[in-house]
Parts: sequence; structure tokens; C-alpha cells
Amino acid sequence: ALTQSITLANGVKIPQLGLGVFLVKEENELIQAVMTAVLDGYRHVDTAMIYGNEQYVGEALKGLEIPREEIFITSKVWNYDHGYEETKAAFQASIDRLGVDYLDLYLIHWASPHYIETWKAMEELYNEGKIKAIGVSNFQIHHLEDLMAHSTITPMINQIETHPEFPQNELHDFMKKHGIVHEAWGPLGQGKNDLLNNPVLVKLGEKYNKTAAQIILRWHLERGVVVIPKSVTPHRIRENAAIFDFSLTKEDMAEIATLNTGTRYAKDPDDEAFLL
Ligand code: NAD
Repeated sequence: ALTQSITLANGVKIPQLGLGVFLVKEENELIQAVMTAVLDGYRHVDTAMIYGNEQYVGEALKGLEIPREEIFITSKVWNYDHGYEETKAAFQASIDRLGVDYLDLYLIHWASPHYIETWKAMEELYNEGKIKAIGVSNFQIHHLEDLMAHSTITPMINQIETHPEFPQNELHDFMKKHGIVHEAWGPLGQGKNDLLNNPVLVKLGEKYNKTAAQIILRWHLERGVVVIPKSVTPHRIRENAAIFDFSLTKEDMAEIATLNTGTRYAKDPDDEAFLL
């Protein structure tokens, strides 16, 4: 069940649960976390050039000696690497650091001004088979509409901040209509706003003998969303994966829906100063 996957528009399957490694900068810590996750059944790791740890992810996977095709690896092109040539070079540097010859998923990390040229390079890399699926991150509806109007391949994924207080309902519905899979970053709310102690989530946890974190992750799964919770703590890595042996009812889902405040915890994708 841990390898339960979602099929992208081009037929590629993405494991619905992956390990996020944002802010894990210490080599041994990262290698330990990836090893713990893979031994527990995870088959998907989400990194990015800007996290500064692609090389350690590569080392961890090499140490585990699992066949390349059994692990789903995502990386992302950062804001200052946008543009056609720049993106080709950034991609090559990422796979070199990871020690692989293809990526399963490559994402535009944020909608920086030159994302159309960036996407053209990604389409070519995809057509050459160097990337199995291509997508974007932090794209709003207006970015997606613009990209789709100026390209040939619709992004297969959009990775966006999503948690019960910011469920992204409108973007979710738009993406569903266009066959773009919703992937949640900060699926647990990044440990902010005391979300994991929210009484509604704690109460539902008691009902199923699960933690609030597990209730949240299950809520994402029920919505058809891909989750990449981050932890370096072995018992939490395992806790975050123990979400395939129960399900939430319509009533539970409706109760969690009441937590929507419409407020992000993190960066606004339309913050122009940040995108440059
Ligand atoms: P998250 O929602 O995964 O929360 C991580 C925090 O929750 C950490 O502090 C961790 O210690 C804590 N935690 C994890 N499991 C727990 C548990 N079971 N019980 C209690 N606490 C727990 O936030 P995130 O790391 O920001 O997001 C997940 C991944 O998404 C990242 O690691 C990264 O790969 C990706 N990401 C992408 C973007 C983007 O712009 N595309 C931005 C942020 C994160």
C-alpha cells in the first residue's frame, strides 16, 4: 500500500507518498532519513537544487542499492536558473549531483518571469527521455493558463502549499479539469500555526487511533493529492507512512473542510520581488 500511486497525464505513475528533504542540510542526517524511509517502503524523494542536498540524496540511494527504476526522484529548477540554456545546464548539474541519468519529475520551482523559455527546455528534455514527467510548482491559475497557452505540453503536476487551513480548493478544481495532478508541499503545515494540535484533527485521530499528522496526510490522500511530508526523525518517518490502513468518511472530510481559513502559512507565489 505504501507504493500506492497516481497516474499522471502521460501514464507515468508517481507514488502518492514521498519523503520531503527541504532544510535537511547535514549529510549524515539526510542519508539516515532517506535510508529509514526507503527501508520502510517509501519509493519517492522530493529534493531541489536550492535545498543544497541533491548530492546527499544520490549518495543515500547509491548506498541502498535499489534499482534506479524503483525510486521516483523529483528535483526543481530554481529562480535564477530560468531561461532555455540555463535550464538545460541546471538540469544537467542536478542529475550529475544526484548521480543519475534521468529524473522522474522535474519542476519549475516558482513562476519566475522567464518560465516560458524554461518550460521549452524542459519539454525538450522530456521528449529526449531525460525526464519522465515535467511539472511546475507554486503556479497560480493565471500562471497555468499562460503556460498552457504558450506551450505544447500541459504540466503533469503542480506542487503547491496545501494543508487543511489552506486546501487550495479553487486551484485544485482547475487542475483537476486540466489533468494536472495536485502535489502538496508543507502537507503538515510545516509545523506552523499549531496545526498538529488542532482539536478537530486531534479528535479525529482519537477516533482512528492515529495522530493528527496521520489524519492530515490521509485527508490529502482522500483528495487524490500527492504528499511529501518532511521528517528526519525515524519514528515520524514511519508514522507518516502508516496512513494506508484506514480511511476517512465523507463526514470526517466535511469536518476537516471547516478548518479552511484561506490563509497561507508561507510565501505568496505572486510576490514579484521574491521571483526575480
Ligand atoms: P511539512 O508540512 O512536511 O512539515 C515538516 C515539519 O513537520 C518538520 O518540522 C517536521 O519535523 C514536522 N513533522 C513531520 N512529521 C511529523 C509528525 N509525524 N509529527 C509531528 N511533526 C512532524 O513541511 P515542508 O518540509 O516544508 O514540506 C514538505 C516538503 O515539500 C519539503 O521537504 C520539500 O521537499 C517540499 N517543499 C516544496 C516547496 C516548494 O516551493 N515547491 C516549498 C516547501 C517545501
